[in-house]
Amino acid sequence: MDFNDTPEEAAFRAKAQAFLNTVAKPKSDDSAGLARTLSDKDYLKAAKAYQKAKAEAGFAGITWAKEQGGQGHPPIFSVIFGQEEAKFDAPAAPFAIGLGMCIPTMIAFASDAQKQRHVGPALKGEEIWCQLFSEPSAGSDVAGLKTKAVRDGDTWTVNGQKVWTSGAHYSDWGILLVRTNPDVPKHKGLTMFFLDMKSPGIDVRPIHQMSGGSNFNEVYFTDVKIPHAQMLGAEGAGWNVALVTLMNERLAVGGSSGPDYKEVLDLARNITGADGAALLQDKAFRAKLADWYVRAEGYKLGKYRTMTALSKGQTPGPESSIGKIINANQMQDIANSAIEAEDHYGIIADGASAPMDAAFQQAFMWAPGLRIAGGTDEILKNIIAERVLGLPQDVRVDKDVAYKDLPTGR
Ligand SMILES: Cc1cc2nc3c(=O)[nH]c(=O)nc-3n(C[C@H](O)[C@H](O)[C@H](O)COP(=O)(O)OP(=O)(O)OC[C@H]3O[C@@H](n4cnc5c(N)ncnc54)[C@H](O)[C@@H]3O)c2cc1C
Repeated sequence: MDFNDTPEEAAFRAKAQAFLNTVAKPKSDDSAGLARTLSDKDYLKAAKAYQKAKAEAGFAGITWAKEQGGQGHPPIFSVIFGQEEAKFDAPAAPFAIGLGMCIPTMIAFASDAQKQRHVGPALKGEEIWCQLFSEPSAGSDVAGLKTKAVRDGDTWTVNGQKVWTSGAHYSDWGILLVRTNPDVPKHKGLTMFFLDMKSPGIDVRPIHQMSGGSNFNEVYFTDVKIPHAQMLGAEGAGWNVALVTLMNERLAVGGSSGPDYKEVLDLARNITGADGAALLQDKAFRAKLADWYVRAEGYKLGKYRTMTALSKGQTPGPESSIGKIINANQMQDIANSAIEAEDHYGIIADGASAPMDAAFQQAFMWAPGLRIAGGTDEILKNIIAERVLGLPQDVRVDKDVAYKDLPTGR
């Protein structure tokens, strides 16, 4: 492993820092973040302006080929930009799924004319995309989805329901995985399409979250028409297309997403227990801090291993699943303990009144989602067991059974 930037990487990092300093405030700044101070509408406006600035400065589509409007850099450059961006209050979230997963899928499977039409507007922040995969009974087992599409000439008609679709309420376009053949085993009867989210028959219903926000949605399809030309990949090959979408999640290894042991250390220095002594002197709390430190260092070194692989042009393997399990669980554990330590202030989620701008309260509400999104703890542990440790496969009783013959419990 080599932890140091090459001269080229260091120059790119410096350029990224200079750009970010002109368009965003560092997170260490005392003010509460944009996501907490702006209305949803204004945050989206700020996000579009930020994405436009990134495109103009050459920091959008960092790893994409130049002919696709990208910068043609190796994947490590995207990781470096992600690391620097994570230090700033940059409103990048609304574009994460579209540019991180949907557009790379379009680049791999859409026609040249479709790429010409869609890639540029997404890169410049003019259009937002969402990913319509999960359903009420098909999340971890997404290949078991029910939403179906039936062909009539050059048009497909879609009926069914998706759920947890991040950003569907403000998205212009989406990629949609549907069942087109129930007579073959579940993975083989799926097909991928892209579609206009303003198509007649789409009903987007935001889900109200415990944080007060509504970031994801239920999406209902009633006789929604999609032109055949908007199929991505071949009919029945949707699972392979979906794997390309999901593989693109792996490159999101750069940033950090919540308070870590350093912030808890700050808190512990400033809080006094019932006996009047600083929390930092409490032996049980010190043991926890040591544990968090060890896990954070392990996570950091694991990330460096992935970065070294990227830097050498290799693709990170299934071992990158380990990082998300550690990070998400650690964030939940830290947030729990910090809120408890804040005593009655712990129940205040308002950034203006809670200690440290309510960073721990926000993390407390976000951490359970982080443990689920992009693969739950259990699914990632299965991946690690089977594909990293080489243990026997999980029991799969539906392997060669036609989808229509699978028991549904009804
Ligand atoms: C913040 C957030 C954003 C999301 N955004 C999107 C999005 O934009 N688009 C989209 O399509 N989806 C999205 N999702 C959905 C996400 O992909 C699913 O929630 C996830 O795949 C889990 O599926 P599920 O919720 O149906 O849970 P289930 O699959 O029903 O799992 C329930 C429980 O059973 C366990 N379990 C399931 N199968 C196994 C197994 N084989 N072995 C052991 N344990 C198992 C799980 O670990 C979990 O604890 C989002 C989710 C979150 C939290």
